[in-house]
Amino acid sequence: MPEVVAYIGLGSNLENPQMQVESAIDELAGLPETALRSRSSLYRSAPMGPQDQPDFVNAVACLETTLPPQALLQGLQAIEQRHGRVRAQHWGPRTLDLDILLYGQYMIDTEQLKIPHPGIAQRNFVLYPLAEIDSRLDIPGMGKVQELLAQRSAAGLTRLEQTPGAAQ
Ligand code: ADP
Ligand code: MG
Repeated sequence: MPEVVAYIGLGSNLENPQMQVESAIDELAGLPETALRSRSSLYRSAPMGPQDQPDFVNAVACLETTLPPQALLQGLQAIEQRHGRVRAQHWGPRTLDLDILLYGQYMIDTEQLKIPHPGIAQRNFVLYPLAEIDSRLDIPGMGKVQELLAQRSAAGLTRLEQTPGAAQ
C-alpha cells in the first residue's frame, strides 16, 4: 500500500474516559506501519441515543499508515478489546470506540467497513475535532468539513482544557 492519511474518531464514556482516549491515541501511534501525524483536543459531548448514560469524551487522531483499511480496522478492534470493550447496547456506554472516519480519499462501502464513516456529517463531536486538525479537509461524497460544520450546532459539545502532561 502507498502511504495514506487516515483519520480515526475516538470516544469513551466509562472508566475515566479522558485516560481511555489519551492512552488509545498512544496505542494508535504504536500500530505497525503507522505514525501519528496530529491529534485534536479532547471534547466532552452529550450521548447520542440512550440519555441515561454518562457524557462522552471524544477526539480525532490523524495517522499516516501503509496498513490496508481492513488491517487498520483489525488494529483498532484489538485496541478496543484491550480497553475492555464489551459490545452490548447500540449507541450504549463503552470504554472505547474507535472508528475509521477517513482513509485518504477512498470510498468503501461493504458490510464490515464504510468509509467515509456514514455518521460524520451529523456528528458535531466528529466535525469539530476534524476541523481543528485540518479546516480545509474534503470528505469524499460529503463535502468540505467547514461547510458541514456550518450546518451543525455545537450544542452539547465542550472543548476540554489541555490536561497537564497529556500527549500533544
Ligand atoms: P458503532 O461505532 O456504530 O457504535 P461498533 O463500534 O460496535 O458500532 O462497530 C460495529 C461495526 O461497524 C464493526 O464491527 C465494523 O465492522 C463496522 N464498521 C463499518 N464501518 C466502520 C468504520 N468506518 N470504522 C469502524 N467500524 C466500522
Ligand atoms: Mg465503532
